[in-house]
Amino acid sequence: MHEGIELVRRYPQEVVGTGPPRARPGRNLPKWLRAASLRPSEAVPDESSPGIARSSDSRYLPPVTGSRCPYCAGVLADAPRAHQPWDVTILDLGEYVVAPTKGALVPGWALVISKEHTICVGALASRKLGALRDAIDATDALITKAFGPTTVFEHGPNAPGTALGCGVDHLHVHVVPLRFSLRAALDRMLPQLKWDLIPGFETLANLHADARSYVWVREPGEGVFGCEPPIGLRQPLRRAIALELGRPNEFDYTQFPEVSNVDLTHQRLGRFLHG
Ligand SMILES: [Zn+2]
Ligand SMILES: [Zn+2]
Repeated sequence: MHEGIELVRRYPQEVVGTGPPRARPGRNLPKWLRAASLRPSEAVPDESSPGIARSSDSRYLPPVTGSRCPYCAGVLADAPRAHQPWDVTILDLGEYVVAPTKGALVPGWALVISKEHTICVGALASRKLGALRDAIDATDALITKAFGPTTVFEHGPNAPGTALGCGVDHLHVHVVPLRFSLRAALDRMLPQLKWDLIPGFETLANLHADARSYVWVREPGEGVFGCEPPIGLRQPLRRAIALELGRPNEFDYTQFPEVSNVDLTHQRLGRFLHG
């Protein structure tokens, strides 16, 4: 039994909110992308999209907003609940802020966080995608200069309360200076994953409108590749990174906040930004 399959078998109690994709007709495309690619690209959902309006479904937890959202009550709050280093902004980019992440397994791990409380990139209206691309590019350039080439990724939960979202149901994109291929690490852990090129963030909107969770990864010099995430497995990308770093038991940010890496991120980026 491969460890990846074993991981999924070991955590069946975490199965919340991610079901198998509904079969749709499609042309030479993997099943999880077919419905998305067959939809018109202007079918962009907003906060009222079906992926979010699930609170009456007992498989989902109530939406986490305001004081219960770690970003709305933390880095985005005028007065964060506790002055934690991951609640301190590195950059304010207008509609987005850049901040370090609790549980940074390597120094330089940054998040691009939307000021708007919405669940994922797929939930953004198309007119907002330009600002998001700009924010990711600016963060990528900064982290690359300070720490080396970055891998960019998103957990795209289709609704609040999923194992994939794992307590953070607020749009954030990870920008991480990794020294290894995250997709290769994920494939070693979960060999059943099927990756496909995501031609643009509009595709994520179509997946989200179809109530599908997704994961996408962009490695240095490559395009954006997406896959359907394993059902019910918490923090799959963090697990793969921790495994690759030889610290497989330290993937959980709630148990391993990695304060020293967060401090290092602030220190080095502070020098680049403020001299
Ligand atoms: Zn929030
Ligand atoms: Zn995440």
